[in-house]
Amino acid sequence: ESRRLLDRQASRESSARAYPVHSPIAIAGGEGSYLRDADGNVFLDFLTGAGVLALGHNHPDLVAAAHAQLDVHTHLLDFPSEAKDTFTDLILGTLPPAMRGRYKIHFCGPTGADGVDAAIKLCKTHTGRGEVIAFQGGFHGSTQSTLAVSGLVGPKEPVQNMLPGVAFFPYSSCFACPLGLKPDSCSVNCVQYLENALDDVNGGLRRPAAVLLELVQGEGGVVPARKEFAQRVRDLTRRLGIPLVVDEVQSGCGRTGTWFAFEQYGIEPDVVVLSKALGGGHPVSVILYHERLDRWESGAHTGTFRGNQLAFAAGAELMRVFERDRVLDNVREISSRLLNGLYELASEHEFIGDVRGLGMMLGAEVISHQGHSAHEIAALLHSTCLRRGLLFELAGRNDNVLRFLPPLNLTAREAHEALDILRATFTEVGA
Ligand code: PMP
Repeated sequence: ESRRLLDRQASRESSARAYPVHSPIAIAGGEGSYLRDADGNVFLDFLTGAGVLALGHNHPDLVAAAHAQLDVHTHLLDFPSEAKDTFTDLILGTLPPAMRGRYKIHFCGPTGADGVDAAIKLCKTHTGRGEVIAFQGGFHGSTQSTLAVSGLVGPKEPVQNMLPGVAFFPYSSCFACPLGLKPDSCSVNCVQYLENALDDVNGGLRRPAAVLLELVQGEGGVVPARKEFAQRVRDLTRRLGIPLVVDEVQSGCGRTGTWFAFEQYGIEPDVVVLSKALGGGHPVSVILYHERLDRWESGAHTGTFRGNQLAFAAGAELMRVFERDRVLDNVREISSRLLNGLYELASEHEFIGDVRGLGMMLGAEVISHQGHSAHEIAALLHSTCLRRGLLFELAGRNDNVLRFLPPLNLTAREAHEALDILRATFTEVGA
């Protein structure tokens, strides 16, 4: 049955479809951490709709909240409503106490890319400047402007003439350091390069409207920035009056073990972009930004779907469940089991070069081994895991990083089930 649905879609849908090409399954349903395909096969879901389904599939409280909202309103443009009011209260309440009361919210279109776009427009309007500084390996969306600020070259190679005025700087990727340094002997932190360029007023780099940063690069291969790097970028941008935009589309909403990843870095961004898990499974994106940036005229970033009542209702419920069920504690506890399991596997298999991550955003980087390329091995690990019942995606510049985005309410038993599948797969592929 999966095959029939896959073939029908393949004959009618654009060749740009991606997920069913990588993981050829047609989906019948899902419950909790498990996904069921059209043939009744069950998969432990470590993809979770690219990090959208923070509480897994069909969480009963989120389903009930969305059902109840269906009877009230589904679409209201950007008019106020009870659902929006409650959601706004809760989301602003997730900010660290020192930021509360000083940050505003703007409701953006349904995708993360629209949130990033809004953030850049806000900073351009505020500063009156045009350029953006972003980082090598970063990913911020598939629209032309968000591709333009994405360091990952692959997806933008065939699309010419995007926006001008973007400069890319090295990101603190210690496993593959662009300067060839090792973390413990790193005396030339990569931010020094940026600092130098920005301070050199005759060096050809104009002061930008924004610096755009992922604290954990997701599509780039699950690369957490070093804390010192993030803090120095913050200090530098503050000193030079450049708004710092932190893209938490993937790392936000508890994924890393705190509601925002920036909390663990001890920094206060000027703008935060959230999407993916924010709407409890329904599309929405927002930016939260310091009120001093708010120089927008009414209508400056508008459109039909700015906000989504179902997402407000389910997203509010998501935040309540996080509190009630101490989901962040679970992320910290279960992710350390997963991380330890991955470390152990890496020590037994030479084709795993690095294991890293923050909270439930975990990656294992595959390296070339015995004449096989890193991507070849990663692709084989991926398809073998799928056959054994574990769904995840590959990330990284060469699609050579196994990227795990499990549900944040994953149980210890499910974590061990995933590790068992990985262990059996690594042994099979390594043999
Ligand atoms: N920013 C980051 C960090 C992302 O991971 C993504 C999506 N993977 C986006 C932006 C774009 O989000 P969307 O696909 O919803 O446009």
